[in-house]
Amino acid sequence: MRALITGGCGFMGSHLAEALLARGDDVTVLDDLSTGRFENVRHLVPRAGFRFAIETIANETVMDRLVSECDIIYHLAAAVGVELVVRDPVHVLETNIKGTEVVLRTGARYRKKVILASTSEVYGKSSRVPFREDDDGTLGPTTRSRWSYACSKAMDEFMALAYHKQLALPVVIARFFNTVGPRQSGRYGMVIPRFVRQALDGEPLTVYGDGQQTRCFTFVGDVVRAVVALADHPAALGQVYNIGSSEEVTIEDLAGRVIALSGSESRIDHIPYHQAYEAGFEDMLRRVPDTSKLRALVGWQPTLDLDGILRSVIDSMRAESVLAGER
Ligand code: UDP
Repeated sequence: MRALITGGCGFMGSHLAEALLARGDDVTVLDDLSTGRFENVRHLVPRAGFRFAIETIANETVMDRLVSECDIIYHLAAAVGVELVVRDPVHVLETNIKGTEVVLRTGARYRKKVILASTSEVYGKSSRVPFREDDDGTLGPTTRSRWSYACSKAMDEFMALAYHKQLALPVVIARFFNTVGPRQSGRYGMVIPRFVRQALDGEPLTVYGDGQQTRCFTFVGDVVRAVVALADHPAALGQVYNIGSSEEVTIEDLAGRVIALSGSESRIDHIPYHQAYEAGFEDMLRRVPDTSKLRALVGWQPTLDLDGILRSVIDSMRAESVLAGER
């Protein structure tokens, strides 16, 4: 298979590129390096079958050529991270809506399968957990910019399903829950790389709100395995799948575990939401996936639990610090 990964220099894209190369696929990554980093794929450059293009998905001329030369598109390019969404909503909306439109249009031109990366944000602030794929979403008002991300990804899903229904484009939608692992940056808000960096630096861990909000964290390698299994399965076409673990943890408890596992002496600071993000910011209280649909189709189970994930992130950040010190 010849795979095109949009956003292939990002955290998840680079892990997917490794997995596909390992099984013998040819991989082209397309990334404009807006949040992705070339460092994430530099080690892949000498590998046979690996190519890259530093360009935006909005460049339809480049997209046309790359799509015509591949068999499958993994569309991961997107503006993500709650802080980025609050800080730069224009960029988020344009990238996620216009960019996906180009991907779907070029995909349809050559009838190439599209795996669309979506998000658990589309469930919004519903508290009826666990979330099933066909549950209603409960989004906040348009005056709260956080919800622009959920809306942009919901629009991506609508567009992908419309192309499938009307133009017979083969699409599969993967809704990622909180995914973590080595190479994830804390710069755009993601909590685990943030907490681990703070713990290793002996800084206070910044818990937002009362810390009683919960999340389920999944190791990136497990998520990539689910994505590839869905891409390979003909019955997944035209369907939406949750991908995430069911191990639920409060953010307060998460901070305590990061401190314990890293042997840090950091304390925990509570920061009000309006200070962390913006006035009127709305968080989700609980976010838990129902993955029975995914399990029934491909028999997926995560292999790493939360402590295993935290150890892996702590080890990789320690190794990065050693390397940075040697440079
Ligand atoms: N969070 C936190 N401290 C941080 C960063 C995030 O307490 O330094 C919280 C955030 O408010 C949310 C949870 O951790 O409740 C997960 O945040 P993240 O941005 O990783 O993902 P989200 O689930 O919001 O998409």
